[in-house]
Amino acid sequence: MSKAESSFVPEGASVPVSPCPSWCVTRHGVHLGEENWVHTGEPLLVADGIPAYVVMSVDPETGTSDGPYVLIGAREYTLSEARHVGSALMAAVDSACATPAGGPECE
Ligand SMILES: [Zn+2]
Repeated sequence: MSKAESSFVPEGASVPVSPCPSWCVTRHGVHLGEENWVHTGEPLLVADGIPAYVVMSVDPETGTSDGPYVLIGAREYTLSEARHVGSALMAAVDSACATPAGGPECE
């Protein structure tokens, strides 16, 4: 086990976290080091129990941010990719609802 993998190393524990974006629901301070820098949004259940989250990490020393991204399951999407996925789903639903078979779920 490398030093970075040990959860008992206190280094990073007192490093202040960057201010949370409005969508962050993380309880910072529970994790150490880089884990504690990650801002995470409310989980959204998108399909069969697969959660989607908005995530962004900010290095508290350099202020360098990574993200925000949208995590869907284990896959990371850029915001424009996630928007495309959402738009494609909406277009598919709109198209399905444009047919008589769409039924009451389209109302
Ligand atoms: Zn946060």
